Amino acid sequence: MPPQQSLTRRADGYYGQFCFDADRKEQGEYSGNVIGIDLGLKSFYKDQNNKAVECPKFLRKAEKRLKQQRRRLSRKFVKGAKPQSNNYHKQKKRLGRVHLKFQRQRKDWEIKLARNVVASNDVMVYEDLKVSNMVKNHPLAKSISDASWYQFTQSLDYYGRIWGKAVVAVPTNYTSQGCSNCGHRVKKSLSTRTHACPIDWGVEMCCDTNAALNILKKGMAILGIDWQNSTQRHWGSGEKSRTTEEIIASAMNGQPKIVSNVVESVTRILSL
Ligand SMILES: [Zn+2]
Repeated sequence: MPPQQSLTRRADGYYGQFCFDADRKEQGEYSGNVIGIDLGLKSFYKDQNNKAVECPKFLRKAEKRLKQQRRRLSRKFVKGAKPQSNNYHKQKKRLGRVHLKFQRQRKDWEIKLARNVVASNDVMVYEDLKVSNMVKNHPLAKSISDASWYQFTQSLDYYGRIWGKAVVAVPTNYTSQGCSNCGHRVKKSLSTRTHACPIDWGVEMCCDTNAALNILKKGMAILGIDWQNSTQRHWGSGEKSRTTEEIIASAMNGQPKIVSNVVESVTRILSL
């Protein structure tokens, strides 16, 4: 097949694109670690061990610059004027370039972050957020679309495929309400930041950590792996866990073959 070609115009010039079909596969390194990822607005994500990854400062700064340029453009806009002034068009171009730079910086950061996450874990579970739905319904719509988790989760899938690791997207129901310890549903408003369970006395944690635990549990259940959070990073015992141990053993030896059984089931779930 001849390579596909396209020419794209961006704010800073024209770009030629050539698309080749290449199957990239590399030997992944296995660590025995798993991660449940709760994508959020306060932090970019939080995992089941309460570790938070924040949006970097340089991105927040770039966002500020972008807002400033947008304001300048609207100040130069004259209602009803056709055509708009030269200064307006100059500012429009400037805004385009700032926007492009911001997009590229963010994309670069998200891809590198995803690469790191997949490099240091064997199983990654995240929530299939269907960002466009949330953007329509959510009071925090703008920050959600700005958070742009899409690039990040796409990159998780991509590196998972390359390194033969399991990346699972789980449905969103009750991941934040359910208690990660006993499953009891605890209703929370958007502003509630802690999860306190009325059933098991003493279960109290950050609501994002609770969600990350639920997400991880769902993913592990989908993979058929018995995983408990009572002792963190404890991979169950008993009949079911034999496959788990095989997976870990093969992971430790860097044999992606057995792990790839897991990956296949993941691909099936993603295509539902
Ligand atoms: Zn509970």
